[in-house]
Amino acid sequence: MTGRPGGFVPGADRGTAPAPTDLALPVAGHKLLTGADGSVLRVADLPADTEWAPLGTLDGVPAWAAEPAGADELPGRWRGWASLAAEAPQPLATLAGRALTVVTWRRTHRWCGACRAELADVPGEPARRCPDCGLYVPMRLSAAVLVAITRPGPAGRPDELLLVRHSYGPTGLWALVAGFVEAGETLEAAAHREVGEEVGLALAGLAYFGSQPWALSGPNVLLTGFTATAADPAAEPVVDGRELVEARWFPLDGLPAELPPAYSISRWLIDATAAGAGR
Ligand SMILES: [Zn+2]
Repeated sequence: MTGRPGGFVPGADRGTAPAPTDLALPVAGHKLLTGADGSVLRVADLPADTEWAPLGTLDGVPAWAAEPAGADELPGRWRGWASLAAEAPQPLATLAGRALTVVTWRRTHRWCGACRAELADVPGEPARRCPDCGLYVPMRLSAAVLVAITRPGPAGRPDELLLVRHSYGPTGLWALVAGFVEAGETLEAAAHREVGEEVGLALAGLAYFGSQPWALSGPNVLLTGFTATAADPAAEPVVDGRELVEARWFPLDGLPAELPPAYSISRWLIDATAAGAGR
């Protein structure tokens, strides 16, 4: 499936200084700077005094992120992750997501949360440590689950897929039931709990589909996708009216046009489910 990171390998090696031809991903807030034509910048394109943080490698080429001073004056095009992910190959979209995550994490993890001393980088790791009390502060990952739930359609008709509309974010979109995994919970338990909470349905045959690093709903999110069938094919979804405003079964040959974007695991799940309907 398309969820593989391809040529991007994350890393935190500061052993060598950035070379002029290394990949450069400047970040300001939630935006990334690319060339005017959308291409990835090189370290030599940015001011020499830029402080770079290591991201890893893309097809063997080291990549670096920075929060450059005077961002407004830099030539190029500032864009959000969604705009970049919509047109870039997936390994590059993943790298861009990591750049946003690393820069945001470094900005928001400067001081020790236990004793207030200034944290120091741990060599070779995406982590900081407190020089006074020893507190270890790794860059953490938030896991979320998405579930494509189907049920048999009426006799002679294709299966049906459950899609929901949210009260926040892109509210016009028909999406999958989704939510964050809680501490102490497995991915599978989170899938069952979220579906129960959001639409009041019980699941059967929960199966892992794939995963995708995701930079849109917060830094360092890992989306994990599942397929399942409704335990009771006659059960109708019930929404809480707060997080979700609507939930509806759609026949797989009649899905709405307002679906999640092509670069999202939500869409890969929906497309794979629809493609499997004819089997
Ligand atoms: Zn401390």
